[in-house]
Amino acid sequence: MKKPARSPKISDTSGIRNLVVVLGDQLSCELETFRSFDPKQDAVWMAESVIEAEYVWSHKQRIALFLSAMRHFRKELESRGIRVFYTELEKNQDPKGLDELLEHFLKSKNVTGSVLMTEPGEWRLKKAFKDLATNITTPLKMLEDSSFLCSRDDFENWAEGRKQLRMEYFYREMRKRTGILMDGDTPAGGEWNYDSSNRASFGKRGPETVPPPVRFRSDSITREVIELVEHRFADHPGRLDTFAWPVASQDAKCALEDFLKKGLADFGKYQDAMWTGEPFLNHSLLSPSLNLKLLSPREVIEAVEKEYREGRAPIESVEGFIRQVIGWREYVRGVYWRYMPDYADRNAMGASEALPDFYWTGQTSLNCLRQALDQTLEYGYAHHIQRLMVTGLFALLWGVDPKEVHRWYLSIYVDAVEWVELPNTLGMSQYADGGVMASKPYVSTGKYINRMSNYCKGCRFRPDVRTGEDACPITVLYWDYLDRHEKALAGNQRMGLQLRNLKRMGAEERSGLRARAQKTRQWILKESNN
Ligand code: FAD
Ligand code: SF4
Repeated sequence: MKKPARSPKISDTSGIRNLVVVLGDQLSCELETFRSFDPKQDAVWMAESVIEAEYVWSHKQRIALFLSAMRHFRKELESRGIRVFYTELEKNQDPKGLDELLEHFLKSKNVTGSVLMTEPGEWRLKKAFKDLATNITTPLKMLEDSSFLCSRDDFENWAEGRKQLRMEYFYREMRKRTGILMDGDTPAGGEWNYDSSNRASFGKRGPETVPPPVRFRSDSITREVIELVEHRFADHPGRLDTFAWPVASQDAKCALEDFLKKGLADFGKYQDAMWTGEPFLNHSLLSPSLNLKLLSPREVIEAVEKEYREGRAPIESVEGFIRQVIGWREYVRGVYWRYMPDYADRNAMGASEALPDFYWTGQTSLNCLRQALDQTLEYGYAHHIQRLMVTGLFALLWGVDPKEVHRWYLSIYVDAVEWVELPNTLGMSQYADGGVMASKPYVSTGKYINRMSNYCKGCRFRPDVRTGEDACPITVLYWDYLDRHEKALAGNQRMGLQLRNLKRMGAEERSGLRARAQKTRQWILKESNN
């Protein structure tokens, strides 16, 4: 869409040809819906719905980010002379869904052309709008989200006929297809994957210099939103005084620049490392901006590849980062749409426990969990290994119902949108999809956490101990998990070594382990309920 030379003077009462619906995670004029947008005839519709903030118990920063980014986008559109019909939450006390709000709007306005919208990032919303389309007289056209590099059809073609959908093969296809980080037909640097160079810890001394990432000061729009959220969603988890996320595309570009300068060079090496009091380390913090479409994945990876081509960042870091964006990010989206809506109901391991209350408060004496949860409540952010190998690992070992785990992850992270959150939670972290995403459950003892962080140093338990009062609860629950699922996992070759280690235990040792696991569960629940 071209920027008009000056704002056309169109009043709210003028007729509308096409109405472009923009949802909270579709904040870009580059989307297909804007392709033939004519500011003289067309208009944009946006609405803040209380249901979207409440259907999961959203972190306050997640609500504030969506609302502030939406209001900034409205401002940007209006500055381009675009007519925006926008309903703010203050004026919308009705618990109406977005589909109902749109229906109501269409009854009051004459849209002579079509309603155009980008496919929502959540099956629930897509269904609601599809249902609406059958109830209204104006044609509603849903276009594919064009911000992704792999279309839904392309993913289906790749997936069709494969027994296993391994991300690595998808990723190589994406590299070949897009030419990203390729030298002709061969991968730049000679290898497809530098994963083995992406697993360093900070050792005993810790990260030497961790440059703090750029954080953004709230302007008047964000301040107003923060006040609203503080007032309206007072009992929601998290805090707002640390809110500093990019809320507009210029801020997001600035965050990208900042990451290229400070984080990228060591990103690969320390991708999996964790450290007490260091919530961000070398991570980019770009997921919220990417998911809201303040940044496009293409501009991010092109900028990252340039750092390698111009000798400012090593291949291990650049490949490691690009793998996350054109590999994992595109892949989980493909998995989501391929398997929804049944995917959300999967529970391959039959897990049924409730999520312990401390997930919402951080009050636990397991230091690894406390560190990951405290920063989650403080910023709405934790990096991948904290999500997968601390909070996710504990929920898996505890046997939490995957639906509850899913609701927690969808609520608590500022970057959470279902298409990306659900496969990561249900598939990768909880192994509830029966192996679509992960070839084995991501389970380990506390020794993994000890190797990748200094969390165990500040903990009253010992990661290498599985009996007695000092036993690490993660280690105890790990053995308990293998014991409980021994049969179900027996056919999985990749679990062979772990199950052989279990088999080496005598019957007495195993029954002692079960008793220890039961005791551990009891005191964790008691502590959590106090
Ligand atoms: P970086 O470490 O800097 O990585 C760069 C980018 O790669 C990210 O911004 C992100 O866009 C992409 N990326 C990395 N890993 C993944 C992945 N596994 N799947 C998709 N994209 C990836 N990511 C979300 O964007 N939203 C979620 O709701 C979400 N929920 C998750 C739940 C669980 C249980 C797990 C294990 C992972 C989840 N992730 C989610 C993936 C990943 O943890 C986050 O993308 C990442 O931590 C965001 O921080 P960052 O921007 O600093 O990432
Ligand atoms: Fe976590 Fe166990 Fe280490 Fe404590 S000892 S921080 S519970 S892994």
